[in-house]
Amino acid sequence: MSDLSDSHIDALVIGGGFYGATVAAHLARKLDRVVLIERSEDLLTRASYVNQARVHAGYHYPRSIMTALRSRLNFDRFVQQYPECIDDSFTMIYAIARDSKVTAAQFVKVCESIGAPIRRARDTYRDLFSSWLIEDVFETREYAFNADKLRKQARGDLQRTGVQVELGTRVSRVAQAAAGSVEVTTEPGGRRWIAGQVVSCTYAQTNTLLHDSGLALLPLKNELAEIPLLEVPEPLRGLGITIMDGPYFSVMPFPARGAHSIHHVRYSPHHHWHDLSQYRDAYRHLEQSQVRSNYRYMITDAARYVPLLRQAQQVDSLFEVKTVLMQNEVDDGRPILFRRDYGMPNLSLLLGAKIDNIYDALEALDENRLRHSQP
Ligand SMILES: Cc1cc2nc3c(=O)[nH]c(=O)nc-3n(C[C@H](O)[C@H](O)[C@H](O)COP(=O)(O)OP(=O)(O)OC[C@H]3O[C@@H](n4cnc5c(N)ncnc54)[C@H](O)[C@@H]3O)c2cc1C
Repeated sequence: MSDLSDSHIDALVIGGGFYGATVAAHLARKLDRVVLIERSEDLLTRASYVNQARVHAGYHYPRSIMTALRSRLNFDRFVQQYPECIDDSFTMIYAIARDSKVTAAQFVKVCESIGAPIRRARDTYRDLFSSWLIEDVFETREYAFNADKLRKQARGDLQRTGVQVELGTRVSRVAQAAAGSVEVTTEPGGRRWIAGQVVSCTYAQTNTLLHDSGLALLPLKNELAEIPLLEVPEPLRGLGITIMDGPYFSVMPFPARGAHSIHHVRYSPHHHWHDLSQYRDAYRHLEQSQVRSNYRYMITDAARYVPLLRQAQQVDSLFEVKTVLMQNEVDDGRPILFRRDYGMPNLSLLLGAKIDNIYDALEALDENRLRHSQP
């Protein structure tokens, strides 16, 4: 058991994914004692690793202009801040399906209005697609990130800013403490921390933390998602391909494994649930689920649009719970969720929707600090 002074800290961040690690380093630039608690034995092992590794540049969201614009702006910042983690060695192709929810002309208009570079693809790329299913094909400027390299950079940032990192440690509950501070209990050992402020960056476990702390749940939707990794045939190796906009798919480099990944709108989610009507501990649910790969369905459908994909080989499949705000089921937007003073003073909840909108999250945190420091 550590002594009391050792457990009194300025800020405690729960969750050592990309969001929690970045937030902890950000806070430590302004505060003396910042602690980051992560239940796994390493940083960035959950959604920050198991995702499609796309650094969004806005192309993906033609039906949500705000998300498209924010992505476009955050893209440049992210690429500049994490140059070592970026894979820009491939060409990202966006193809518009004939029964897409947007036309090719609308897609181009949105890209131009947010300043995202776009041009009609050259014939060698167009020839890869089934022309009776695809209206038009474009070359764009979008990259992938390497999650292993992002983890390395996060570790360095935490070390440089003096954050105390506790791995293999789970926050079991939070409660209100005296003088506006927050009491945080961690396992194993039942240790109690008293923090001036607490930020939860627990993504798919956000409602589990609230549930276990006796606080009201947020209206979140969870999907048990599969990301198969594949080896693609030579003509596709230097490409990422995204078919817009509807129940289609994308295949793109997954730099941390030197493979490609496929995400299919219809087959990547195996099932979903809404926390308000059907609460589950998302991690426990994933551990206990016996899911069989949907890879065959994904590749059979994808090969209708890009016939060469028939020659792809599955090398692995990664599974994770994807958590999104219920309000974005309609417009496909991906804003962050930030709730300050949630259920008690100085407890903030942060739910990242995409890796690169970390900047929106840091802005929200800074505004929060400003408001609190005003008389
Ligand atoms: C299938 C899928 C595809 C995606 N594709 C993309 C994409 O291509 N591009 C993109 O930008 N975004 C994508 N995303 C979204 C992106 O992955 C997330 O927005 C981002 O990773 C969230 O980061 P995070 O740090 O909040 O979450 P996580 O990386 O999940 O971190 C949460 C951390 O909290 C820890 N934790 C949880 N509960 C506790 C507790 N009680 N105590 C201590 N620690 C705890 C967990 O162990 C975990 O490390 C995708 C997500 C999924 C699931």
